Amino acid sequence: MITVAECKKPQSKLRSEKFLTPKKLYLPLSQHTGKPSSCCVKVGDFIEESQVIANQDGYISSYLHAPASGKVIAINAWNNPVLGRSEAIILEPQGVSKKYLPREGIENLTKEKLIEIIAASGIVGMGGAAFPTQVKLKSPKPIDTLIINGCECEPYLTTDHRLMVENLKEIFLGIEIICRIIKPKVVIFAVEENKSDAIKQINLLIHTKKFSLLAARTAVLPSYYPQGGEKQLIYSTTRRKVPGGKLPLDLGCLVHNVATCFAIYEAVYYSKPLIERLVSFCGEALTAPKNIWVKIGTSLKELFDQKIIEFRTEPEKIISGGPMMGTSLDSLDYPILKSTGGFLFLTKGPKELTEGSCLRCARCVDACPMELLPLEYYKRAKKGEYQDLSTFNINDCIECGCCAFSCPAKIPLVHYIKAGKRYAPKNK
Ligand code: SF4
Ligand code: SF4
Repeated sequence: MITVAECKKPQSKLRSEKFLTPKKLYLPLSQHTGKPSSCCVKVGDFIEESQVIANQDGYISSYLHAPASGKVIAINAWNNPVLGRSEAIILEPQGVSKKYLPREGIENLTKEKLIEIIAASGIVGMGGAAFPTQVKLKSPKPIDTLIINGCECEPYLTTDHRLMVENLKEIFLGIEIICRIIKPKVVIFAVEENKSDAIKQINLLIHTKKFSLLAARTAVLPSYYPQGGEKQLIYSTTRRKVPGGKLPLDLGCLVHNVATCFAIYEAVYYSKPLIERLVSFCGEALTAPKNIWVKIGTSLKELFDQKIIEFRTEPEKIISGGPMMGTSLDSLDYPILKSTGGFLFLTKGPKELTEGSCLRCARCVDACPMELLPLEYYKRAKKGEYQDLSTFNINDCIECGCCAFSCPAKIPLVHYIKAGKRYAPKNK
């Protein structure tokens, strides 16, 4: 793992704001891992807030709900910050926001019913991977360790941090629900040492014993990147290594991000589907960084048009996500997805790199948290020799960028790795 500049101040100390009244919502059918949701509305339909507008389509898929009441004005291809472009439902909000009432009899809900509620609420992993949550909760193998991911190791982003400071009790109630489903022997709340205010509160809640969490403890981890990666987190907290091709559940572990726990709480306690989330807006090109609750589908452009966020100066680079793993955007015409943790508006993009020759210094190898051989991928991908890349386990690469960050020859290693993954034979 590597040390990167955090750039998390002042936004880590600012109270989050709300913007829940967009003029239009752009809702891609594909905002999770797996098969896109299948649209179940048509142009002209009037939709109620939280109504299902696209169904889960297959085992690894998710439901999509209307973040506001309103009229479907189009269903067509639209910008998607992860996929470039994909089919989307475009909604024009009308009317007032729905009130969500507490659900009764939560203590009597069975494990199966809880999973059903979570699936029906369209919850996906909100740390970035967007894997449908109900699938992770239906583990075919016993889970002894539940790890709650509060690390948020990408520079600039502070939504998980603010959520832990402002909504920790709700996160704990979400964790209790997960525990009722998977019955772990131990719960580990993992958080980086740069979030001292959150750590204090987590320790306090664990020690009050108000929550029925078995053997819960806090793991305070060094602020390294990518500390929040699933496999890195499992190793840092349990010393268990997830081998290539295996899943955390093969080692009895399950990892859930804090924002996902919060969404589970809202779904179970208030029957509220995943229709809004906290998003970080940061970078030197803004007048001020902010963390804002926004409805899923709100476009970046509208936030600027309505002066919710403002430019101090023209950005040179717009990134969806963090600077290490995020994707560059070519305009503001992109919506917020269930998995969007933040947007960066940078005055200086990364310097134009002049790619030098490999010095065989092995810094990229030392930096790789997955113990891979990035220079081998580069050498072969550059020559178009993709045949034996799989034998070097290229598909275990999590595209974290630590290798490129450490390379003194400024070789864009992740670019070569992505090409290598695309063309490498899938069978090892
Ligand atoms: S090879 Fe992949 S996992 Fe290893 S440092 Fe590079 S991007 Fe990260
Ligand atoms: S860090 Fe860069 S220069 Fe050094 S071995 Fe890796 S690819 Fe080559």
